[in-house]
Amino acid sequence: MSQGDDGGRICPAPPRKRSEDRERFDGWGFADSGFRIHANGAVELSGNRYDLAGTELPDLLPWISRMVGIPLDPREVNPSQYPPVIPEPRENPAFLGELRKFLPDDAICDDSENRLRHGHGHTQKEIYAIKHGQLVRIPDLVVYPNGVEQVEALVAAALRYGACLIPYGGGTNVTQALLCPADEERIIASVDLSRMNRIRWIDPQNRMACIEAGAVGREIVEILAQHGFTMGHEPDSVEFSTLGGWIATHASGMKKNRYGNIEDLVLDVSAATAAGFLTRSSVSPRESVGVDLRRWLYGSEGNLGIVTHATVKLFPLPEVQHYQSVVFRSFEEGFAFLYDLKQHGAPPASVRLTDNLQFQFSRALKPTSVGLKRLKGRFEKFYVTRVKRFDPDEMVACTLVFEGSREEVAVQESALFRIARKHGGLRAGAENGKRGYELTFAIAYIRDFVMDHYLLAESFETSVSWSQTLALCERVKRRVREEHAARGLPGVPFISCRITQLYDTGVCVYFYCAYHYKGVDRPSEVFAEIEQAARDEVLRSGGSLSHHHGIGKLRAEFLSEIMSAPMLEWSRRIKRAVDPHNVFGAANHGVDAGKLSR
Ligand SMILES: Cc1cc2nc3c(=O)[nH]c(=O)nc-3n(C[C@H](O)[C@H](O)[C@H](O)COP(=O)(O)OP(=O)(O)OC[C@H]3O[C@@H](n4cnc5c(N)ncnc54)[C@H](O)[C@@H]3O)c2cc1C
Repeated sequence: MSQGDDGGRICPAPPRKRSEDRERFDGWGFADSGFRIHANGAVELSGNRYDLAGTELPDLLPWISRMVGIPLDPREVNPSQYPPVIPEPRENPAFLGELRKFLPDDAICDDSENRLRHGHGHTQKEIYAIKHGQLVRIPDLVVYPNGVEQVEALVAAALRYGACLIPYGGGTNVTQALLCPADEERIIASVDLSRMNRIRWIDPQNRMACIEAGAVGREIVEILAQHGFTMGHEPDSVEFSTLGGWIATHASGMKKNRYGNIEDLVLDVSAATAAGFLTRSSVSPRESVGVDLRRWLYGSEGNLGIVTHATVKLFPLPEVQHYQSVVFRSFEEGFAFLYDLKQHGAPPASVRLTDNLQFQFSRALKPTSVGLKRLKGRFEKFYVTRVKRFDPDEMVACTLVFEGSREEVAVQESALFRIARKHGGLRAGAENGKRGYELTFAIAYIRDFVMDHYLLAESFETSVSWSQTLALCERVKRRVREEHAARGLPGVPFISCRITQLYDTGVCVYFYCAYHYKGVDRPSEVFAEIEQAARDEVLRSGGSLSHHHGIGKLRAEFLSEIMSAPMLEWSRRIKRAVDPHNVFGAANHGVDAGKLSR
């Protein structure tokens, strides 16, 4: 090992911006990708960046129709009205004049569609509003600082001239964290961190990197890999979400079993606040130096300041990466396997157990197969359902990603399959496992697509102890069905879940919910009511308010159910102490902007 103060630091070039990676403003994802229906009823994903793209999916529409109890007619469309009416910007000439002193012209933008995009995330309510309604308050301008100095100057200008700042990473949150408070009378500037997207340095000897907050997940993955490293943090939104966003929302990635959640990976954070710049002289492997300020920033959701950069742990790229999959007769058997795996085995980097509906969903996303592939598919189906007598309406799948040294992975794999056999699991192959993970990124486009065909859909998550998990899943599903029936809504609701993360004491459960909204008055509000009822049921069943999405405005009303009054008062006082003029006025976690600024 060579010795040197800086561990032989590498300073990578900034990420290359590719014109083909343009993002759409009217929904999720890259502009070149999106689902559409052919005249024959088959669905296809456009573009060529995902494995699923370019092949006809004949089973998807019929399957969705069966699931929601209403035949979907490809010709029956609720066309998006995007762009909606966009509110005029408010003005504050003194603030703008100050900004012009330190920001170049192209770092201040008042384009209406850009302002709109910076005023929302990806909840069904927000996406429905931009397609079929309106957002009443959005940022009045968008600014693009290029470094710490400009961020500090921005905060000083906002303090001096009475402006409100809302930090913006990738805009992928699903908690309404970027929605502007309707009663905010000050000018609102969205602080877009995309020009602070560099990996400043990689320290290969000490396995650390200093990364700017606006760095996007896919670029972090790509650049670190070029130098033989990974941070191991891969949320399903990794293509668009940013390091600053991960910290500010307390995020979790699919490979957390091996690498940890964001709080396990971040060694140090720097942030610009209204009370000054928070930073420290050095980064240590572990410390006991009083209250840990990083803890305040995890989950701060733009309320306390702007994360400018962070030092994170690195891991060498794994020698091998294997995908695998196992099928079980029922969700209960799959769940018993997960429990055993966590208690007696070494779970691989990622383990996901889908319930039967999600298992069926992944099958409905299969393209038409021909030739040998078709034969193989038929044989597998025959073997599983006829020979082994798995019921297609009950069986579930577990998809797995192993990462590590060859030896480590071999040991993990053999232990895992031994435990799986004990629970009646059948190996379903590497190809199915890989496909399951690859689908993750393509599936993210489905929600916007089905919205145009009268289906509203949303996901929500929780964490819960092992002993309460199965009951929670059952009760939440039942509650959604009851709420749907009580409102006399059309068809039946789609409600399904999967287990995505394992802990010593419990798991993370991720739900998908959808319903057909044709003929329903205020469909988005009705959906939101059902979703809040489901959340109520989660809490009653022993689940957490959120495992990784955060609170934003969506879940704020539940905070008083999970925290004592003094606890809530503590967090209000922290906000008041560090930001007495409420410069960071996103008003997440129920922080009342009006009260604070008085
Ligand atoms: C399809 C899809 C899949 C997803 N999968 C996952 C998943 O697997 N795991 C997971 O954890 N989440 C997931 N999410 C949710 C979302 O991607 C995360 O919450 C993510 O961490 C948000 O990052 P962002 O950069 O997009 O932040 P934004 O949406 O831009 O902002 C979110 C909040 O953080 C604040 N913020 C952003 N940057 C900063 C900064 N530099 N300083 C201070 N505050 C800041 C904003 O003000 C806002 O309050 C998913 C979302 C979608 C739509």
